Amino acid sequence: MNLLSHNVRSLEGALAALGEPALHATRILRRFYGHHGRPDWADPRLGRRLRALLEAAPDPNPTRILERVESDDGTLKLLLGLSDGATAEAVLMPSYREEEASACVSTQVGCAMRCDFCATTRGGLVRNLEGPEIVGQFLHLGAEAQERGRALKRLVFMGMGEPLNNLDAVLFAIERIASPALGALGWRRITVSTVGLVPELDRLTALGLGVHLAVSLHAADDALRGQIVPTAKRFKVADIVAAARRFQERRGRIVTFSYCLLADVNDRDADADALADVLDGSRSHVNVIPYNAIGAGLSGVVYARPSAERVEHFVERLRARGVVAHVRDARGDDVSAACGQLRERRGPHPFPSPPPLRGRGEVS
Ligand code: SF4
Repeated sequence: MNLLSHNVRSLEGALAALGEPALHATRILRRFYGHHGRPDWADPRLGRRLRALLEAAPDPNPTRILERVESDDGTLKLLLGLSDGATAEAVLMPSYREEEASACVSTQVGCAMRCDFCATTRGGLVRNLEGPEIVGQFLHLGAEAQERGRALKRLVFMGMGEPLNNLDAVLFAIERIASPALGALGWRRITVSTVGLVPELDRLTALGLGVHLAVSLHAADDALRGQIVPTAKRFKVADIVAAARRFQERRGRIVTFSYCLLADVNDRDADADALADVLDGSRSHVNVIPYNAIGAGLSGVVYARPSAERVEHFVERLRARGVVAHVRDARGDDVSAACGQLRERRGPHPFPSPPPLRGRGEVS
């Protein structure tokens, strides 16, 4: 009975099977998540036997921190070891509000999507992360934020991997992270990012979750997008934007379109105009992300970040067409800012079966 696997109802059943009052389920899970998976179980309402079981159980978080790399701007990258020796990255970013932080979690080890400007995909897809491995990242990030005097307030599924290629595990994690009785982050503070897998996006829409959606477009022209995001060729840009609009209509949440800006590739005036055309005056938000250098992409092309002036000009050209657009600040430039670089540098970790860090959290 691993606490990371349970929601309230399933834990109620597990407690009943142990002969313990089912009503403790909410109390246990609130305490577990409220302390980022590291609670003491000193609550006398739980009873001596149940407290002893909780105290004796191994740490249910299947990830452990192998490395912390902190940027001058406060961005923290965590390299996490998994039980099979694989590694994944998670990122914590201080918000402009002094007491808040945002975070980014990975959903796969590696990635199959082959985006040409991305370090994560250079080793291909190793495997999907399991739901508890995603929730485990959230717990570490919450604890790290607290140690820095901040509360984790926003989370995006955008690190290593394509979230919609591992949607069941993502849904498992969202339920636990958002639910008031568990992670209590709230649905509206969670964003799922995708390169635009239309059937999976429609599945997410049909579920009616209250999360936000970000679609990584990177080009409004199908031919250019096919070079930058080769495996997304099977979906036309217009079809992806249409699927994003279906999500927006169902949820009433404005979709963000992410656009990684690559010098002399997709940063020309014509590219901005094509993007404005495809969005066609619809309510949306474009998040322009100046490229973080990774060396040669899978195609062998070495991309460059456009100048600050070029980035600003691109954004202004979109705004002149009525598109709401912002530049995402470069974060963690001094600490392998692009996702996948830390994992790439470190390689597999040498502890295939990490011992539990803390003797708490698993009931039996
Ligand atoms: S940018 Fe995201 S979807 Fe594309 S290869 Fe990298 S991790 Fe995968």
